[in-house]
Amino acid sequence: MGKHQKMTDETLAAAAQNLALAVQNNVDNLEAALVKLESEKQKIKTKLDAARRALKRSLDFQPRIVKLLQCPSCWIRGNDKVPLSQFSSAKHADIHKCRICGWAIVVAPSDEL
Ligand SMILES: [Zn+2]
Repeated sequence: MGKHQKMTDETLAAAAQNLALAVQNNVDNLEAALVKLESEKQKIKTKLDAARRALKRSLDFQPRIVKLLQCPSCWIRGNDKVPLSQFSSAKHADIHKCRICGWAIVVAPSDEL
């Protein structure tokens, strides 16, 4: 191999090494992106499972347990049986509020009263 040929080979090898560095950088970035995506996917899957359980629980919600009105929010989100506290508004409508999660509802007075 002549001197010129050897220099050409060495130049090409060096160029390939530089290209390889760029490719390695790309591999690292793509691997990191994939790891991040898998993590996001797992987070979404966990939330989805919880949402499905909440949806299932919503079917079993009982508005009243032993005369006490129940908070639907606590039941659906946390599977807790929390009775609502009752307040009265100026217009004599009933306000039912949950002391745990803050969920509240106003029930208009009945026409019968
Ligand atoms: Zn609640």
